[in-house]
Amino acid sequence: MSDVAMPLVRDGPGNRLCVVVPAFNEAAGIEEFHRRLSAAMTALGPWRVIYVNDGSTDDTLAILKQLRAGDSRVALVNLSRNFGKEIAMTAGLDHATGDAIIVIDADLQDPPELIPRLVAAWRDGYDIVYAQRSVRMGETWLKKTTANLFYRLMQDVGNVKLPRDTGDFRLMSWRVVEAVRSLREGHRFMKGLFAWVGFPSQAILYERAPRHAGTTKWNYWKLWNFAIEGITSFTVMPLKIASYLGLAVSAFASLFILQLVVRTILFGNPVAGYPSLMAVVLFLGGVQLLTLGVIGEYLGRVFNETKQRPLYFVESFLPPGDA
Ligand code: UDP
Ligand code: MG
Repeated sequence: MSDVAMPLVRDGPGNRLCVVVPAFNEAAGIEEFHRRLSAAMTALGPWRVIYVNDGSTDDTLAILKQLRAGDSRVALVNLSRNFGKEIAMTAGLDHATGDAIIVIDADLQDPPELIPRLVAAWRDGYDIVYAQRSVRMGETWLKKTTANLFYRLMQDVGNVKLPRDTGDFRLMSWRVVEAVRSLREGHRFMKGLFAWVGFPSQAILYERAPRHAGTTKWNYWKLWNFAIEGITSFTVMPLKIASYLGLAVSAFASLFILQLVVRTILFGNPVAGYPSLMAVVLFLGGVQLLTLGVIGEYLGRVFNETKQRPLYFVESFLPPGDA
């Protein structure tokens, strides 16, 4: 919990809620999702939902259009291709209006039934109310351990304190959404950006369910890249480690050279030392390549950011029927 500042209690008239749902190939479960979302939202006053179709290759778009035809609260952002969840969420936030915005996954791993509790905390004055997993179900030991490791790493070397076991499922007040919207970097590690903007925040504990239908689009390669994205977006620590590694290796090399010189003076040069030579050459080569790779990761990001491309393209935007 990062509730450093005391929250203001909300008593203004503003109470329009807007739910943002990124969806990529969710045809199997999106109707059930909408049903449960509607049921959870009814008691909360006026609300809207924006579905972002992130270039799905199944029937998701058709089903979303059907949902919109049958429910005037549904808006639809159809992206021109698959841009990934982070960008899909950004597109949703860009099209959202309301006093509080809720971001939730379409696969029912984030229970819509929790939203009333998020809203209650928002009404108590918190700007960010994030759902924190107390138990992870349907996930392997390896995934849990690597996730733990990542959170710890981000906290220790990143300049940003990520709440643990927290996904993107959260409620944000309008001023937080404006703050997040003003961050236009192309490499978007949304969890980091949400945490970076600050504002009084509050955690709500819940049990994360296994997926309702379909399969996750994450694999270990994607997760690894996601972790690199998070780390390089928020800290230059790897660059520092590279410098210190270089320093340590040079110090070690100097000692080694000194030893060689002394030995040659005392005992002559019997032209041995091929193994040690190879060891040194290979080790240095490895360290140099690794360091170059780290620099390359950052350089590549600088390269991507300097292009200043738009984050996404909208193929079509269908506002809510009642707008
Ligand atoms: N998603 C998306 N674009 C993508 C991948 C995923 O919009 O390229 C959406 C997906 O439809 C779901 C949410 O992001 O609503 C979370 O995806 P997923 O369940 O695959 O991730 P996990 O729950 O395993 O983190
Ligand atoms: Mg999921």
